[in-house]
Amino acid sequence: MTIASTLHCDWEAALAARAEAGLLRQTEVLQPLPGPRPFYRDSAGQTLLSFASNDYLGLARHPALRAAATASFASGEYGAGAAPLLGGVRAEHEALAQALADWLEVEDVLLFGSGYLANLGILSGLVEGRDLLLLDRLAHASLIDGARLSGARLQRFRHNDLAHLETLLQKPRRGRAWIVSEGVFSMDGDLAPLPELSALAARYDAGLLLDEAHAFGVLGAQGRGSLAYWGLPAGAVTLRVGTLGKAFGSYGAFVAGPRRLTRWLQQAARSYLFHTALPANVAAASRAALDLLREGEGLRQHLQGLRNTLQAGLQGRAFLPSQTPIQGLILGSNAAALRAAAALRSAGIYCPAVRPPTVPVGQARLRISLSAAHNQDDIQRLLCALQLIAGGE
Ligand SMILES: *Cc1c(COP(=O)(O)O)cnc(C)c1O
Repeated sequence: MTIASTLHCDWEAALAARAEAGLLRQTEVLQPLPGPRPFYRDSAGQTLLSFASNDYLGLARHPALRAAATASFASGEYGAGAAPLLGGVRAEHEALAQALADWLEVEDVLLFGSGYLANLGILSGLVEGRDLLLLDRLAHASLIDGARLSGARLQRFRHNDLAHLETLLQKPRRGRAWIVSEGVFSMDGDLAPLPELSALAARYDAGLLLDEAHAFGVLGAQGRGSLAYWGLPAGAVTLRVGTLGKAFGSYGAFVAGPRRLTRWLQQAARSYLFHTALPANVAAASRAALDLLREGEGLRQHLQGLRNTLQAGLQGRAFLPSQTPIQGLILGSNAAALRAAAALRSAGIYCPAVRPPTVPVGQARLRISLSAAHNQDDIQRLLCALQLIAGGE
């Protein structure tokens, strides 16, 4: 047997096993239909209203982003062509980083290619092999991968469990300790108890790294995220990570904090050093998005109204408690989640099943994600479709 043929058989069997367990994943092409609301057409020609996107403010379809991207083309260059430190930085990147730093009232912002790369970069660049990393059990895969890359000792604390975290902080350690959490958790939509996390970090002299992927744009005055929501100063955390691919409706990511740390990451974060800078027009569109997001109080209020309608209409069904646009309906088995997603789809609603390893085994679910691009009729339609689904199993 050659390696080519054994690989073929092994992978064939592995794919079949995944399919059998209801775990096979695949992409499909969804064509956006014109207009601000998140309608798509699938390859069979069915029109679908999406509740799957992280475009919480509906900015992905905003004409201001398109206009900014188009205007930036006037320079005649699409791809930046090089890493940031080797000539890839344009005026659009600088203007975006400056605007983000002003918005968050931090010394500096460093742009990354994506949130995934940013998390790999800050954890591997800042955290040393002898350090102790304490990650919330529900932390995003990119934080886990960054933690592994750092070589530090990794311990997970039970989700939002401050007592458990404190017992881990009390143990003797060699290097620094770091607490890693998310302002808003991506799959459950609940919040980290940031005032208490910050107090624990101070008491045990630990760093606190906060992933704001689902908080920026959604929480707090001017969409400034968790610190604004909780009324904490910028110094309450060591560093924050934000992505431009969610509420910003664009692409890319950034790290916000003190200049000595961003300068250090520029030297040490390999996912920064060795990636090609974002296309300048993507940075230009992100900056247009920031203006809308800062001024987006009306969008955030509308979003809140949609969430109230959804929760009132659900009348006690087994949704996870969440004050954010992320509303999780736990169905348990993969098969149940797949059946529920198929039922919604038959009613013209796109909301794919979320299964392990994205969520813990036995907690397969529908992750309903609301957007300011939805209207009240859309929520009524979702509520009707949800009646097709039996509750958890
Ligand atoms: C989406 C996400 C990321 C990754 O961001 P991208 O820009 O999509 O790579 C990181 N952390 C969390 C919590 C996320 O939900």
